[in-house]
Amino acid sequence: MISIQGKGVSTGVAAGPLYFYQRAKSTIRRYEVADREAEWERFKAAQAKAIDQLGVLAEKARAEAGDEAALLFETHQMMAEDMDYEEAIEGFIKESGLNAEAAVTDAGAIQADAFAAMDDDYFKARAADVKDISGRIVGILCGVVQGGIDSDVPVVLAADDLAPSETVQLDKSKILGFITSGGSGSSHTAILARTMGIPAIIGVGDQLKSEYEGREVIVDGGTGSVVIDADEETRERLMKKRAELIKRQELLNQLKGQPNVSKDGHEVRIYCNIGNPEDVHAVLENDGGGIGLFRSEFLYLNCDDYPTEDYQFEAYKKVLSDMGGKEVVIRTLDIGADKMIEYFQLPKEENPALGNRALRICLNRPEIFRTQLRALYRASAYGKLSIMFPMVASVWEVKEAKKMCESVKAELTAEGIPFSDDVDVGIMIETPAAAVISDRLAKVVDFFSIGTNDLTQYTLACDRQNNDLGRFFNAHHPAVLRLIKLVAENAHKEGIWCGICGELGADLELTETFLSIGIDELSVSPRSVLPLRQKVRETEVAAVKEKLIDDLMSDMNTL
Ligand code: PEP
Ligand code: MG
Repeated sequence: MISIQGKGVSTGVAAGPLYFYQRAKSTIRRYEVADREAEWERFKAAQAKAIDQLGVLAEKARAEAGDEAALLFETHQMMAEDMDYEEAIEGFIKESGLNAEAAVTDAGAIQADAFAAMDDDYFKARAADVKDISGRIVGILCGVVQGGIDSDVPVVLAADDLAPSETVQLDKSKILGFITSGGSGSSHTAILARTMGIPAIIGVGDQLKSEYEGREVIVDGGTGSVVIDADEETRERLMKKRAELIKRQELLNQLKGQPNVSKDGHEVRIYCNIGNPEDVHAVLENDGGGIGLFRSEFLYLNCDDYPTEDYQFEAYKKVLSDMGGKEVVIRTLDIGADKMIEYFQLPKEENPALGNRALRICLNRPEIFRTQLRALYRASAYGKLSIMFPMVASVWEVKEAKKMCESVKAELTAEGIPFSDDVDVGIMIETPAAAVISDRLAKVVDFFSIGTNDLTQYTLACDRQNNDLGRFFNAHHPAVLRLIKLVAENAHKEGIWCGICGELGADLELTETFLSIGIDELSVSPRSVLPLRQKVRETEVAAVKEKLIDDLMSDMNTL
């Protein structure tokens, strides 16, 4: 048995014969052409054909893996006509008289080297894209047919590094898993493998030898382990895991489109938490009912300077339109504490978690808040937007923030800029103060969403960043659960809804409790939607109601 360790980038277990990807090798001939103009035209025809092929691939990727995957090939289409790239090819052909195949190869290599030398990981990864595009054009010039697996049975595919277009062109019915010696977890190939649901392991280096070809390999995309000729015990263990994962996914897939209703008719909305517009694909893929928390600060964290109103507007608009009218709750800027941004130049604090953060920054620096609110209201014309303020402790903070909303709306009206008049405004309940005065707060907002990560931290006076606190940070503590119950009751007394968007929302041990106290919405990571739906559908609220609440409140072991 040979064991190899790589990095798992797409979960699942697969077993089958190992097959090394055969690239259609075209030896590039180099020669001087007699008619440089005709050679240039030959290149232009091949380039046009490559762009057409990439268009077909984009549609294939869209159908198999969604808009984000399609975007990759649309970007390749643009890169194939990039001015610098084309000028370099033109120079090689028209000035040096080089044949088109060699000209494209050389220009591609120069551009790929330039990308590879960049510091930024994103640009580094683009080197593979340029090589991919050049290979396609050269293949067309040489009359080579791209890709394919020459095997009658499905295989675990090994390669040095698969180009994205190679990944998407492969006949999926022939592929059980991927192993690459190179690659990065954020490469498009890894993303495509994940969205296509094929187990994938990258970065095994030179441990994978060509003499292993044809031998049985088992890959575990969760742990990154590759086993060749597994012994009986390992094989049995991994096959059991595989069967369990497949069964679980099949069961979960059957839940797509099903309502989140308990056995005795209690319904809860299951929404998703996202950090950037690209995550919407995962929300829809996992059948999330909406977005319950878009952490907008990630837009700020990804920028080197304050993101402009237009930049933010485009991002919010994309999320709202991609969600096709389903509710999207966007939380206003929540930085400070663990999320520091240099260009904000926030002074160093002794206790940043208790300091100038989130809504406090927005109220102290209204120009930043105003820019975000304008972008949000402008985007509201494109879907069902709700706005949510983080880290509230007092009613006056909410009133001041809402006043800003009114003033922004008045401004937009005066400027003739459209926005929806149906935007709900709610708050996160993350401080014990907000929970305790939730009866008052409920009178001034449209909804509550409980941020249990911070609520636990502040209620138990336990730093959520400090791993050493271990068992002291207990989100199941009755103090936290009592506050959640209180907040839900106060919300309902005022006729507003109450959700949970902290990690606790996905905690299946508490689903019964949350249903029994009448939580209206649970917002969780996209992958948690179906397991949570399953749990909700198995629950019988009436049977547990009285007992459960009583138990929780009198659990002397955790009190
Ligand atoms: C929370 O505090 O529970 C929450 C959802 O917000 P964040 O984790 O982003 O602080
Ligand atoms: Mg929080």
